[in-house]
Amino acid sequence: MDKEDNYISIRNKILDWYNENKRDYPWRKSKNLYQILITEILLQKTIALNVSNMYNDFFAKYKGFADIFKADINQLQSDIEILGLSNKRAKILKDLSAMVLTEYNGEIPRDPEILKKINGIADYVSNAFLCFGLDKRTFFVDVNIKRLVSRAFEPSNSKVKIDVINENLDRLLPKTGCKHMYWAILDFGNKICSKKSPKCELCPISENCLYYQNL
Ligand code: SF4
Repeated sequence: MDKEDNYISIRNKILDWYNENKRDYPWRKSKNLYQILITEILLQKTIALNVSNMYNDFFAKYKGFADIFKADINQLQSDIEILGLSNKRAKILKDLSAMVLTEYNGEIPRDPEILKKINGIADYVSNAFLCFGLDKRTFFVDVNIKRLVSRAFEPSNSKVKIDVINENLDRLLPKTGCKHMYWAILDFGNKICSKKSPKCELCPISENCLYYQNL
C-alpha cells in the first residue's frame, strides 16, 4: 500500500469505527453558531462529560451573547465552576460577548484572527468553530489528535512539531465533512488509542499504524 492509500485506508477505518462507537454529545447536533463557539470554550482544559452534564442548563439560562454580556460575572463563574478555571473562562466568555455585540452587531466574526484577539481564544477554539460551525476544512490539534497522529504516522519522532501534525492531518482529513472526521479522531483517541495502554489488539488500524508495526 503506498502512503496516500494508507491515509485513505486509515480515514475509512476510523470513520467506520466511529459510526458504530460515536459518543453522543448534545453540541454535535447543534447548528447554533453561538452554542458551537461557546461550547468550544467550555470544552477547553476539562473533560467532555463535565460540559455534557451542564450543557442544557447553561444554554437554557444563557440563550445568546446578550445573556452572557449582562450576567453578573460572579454568577457566571458559579454556573461554570464544575469545569474548572472558572475565573479565566468567565472572562473569555464576557470579553467575547462584548466584542461580538459591540463591534460586530451580534454576528460572530468568521476570521479566526479576529476571534484570537480575545485573550484566551487561540488556534484550537477559532479553527474548531470554523470546522464544526461552518464546515470549513481547518486544522486544530488537541492531545487526542496529536497522540493518534504521532503514533500512526510519526512514532520515531518523540517531539512531533505542530507543522508535521498538520501535514498528516491534511492527508488524513476528507475534502469535505471534516467535522465528522475530527469527532471520529477525538472519540477514537479517547476509547482506542488512549494515552495509557492503547488498545492495539482491538484497533481497526493496527495494520496501518507505524507504532504498532514497530512494536
Ligand atoms: Fe493507537 Fe495502537 Fe491503534 Fe496504533 S494500533 S492507532 S497505537 S491503538
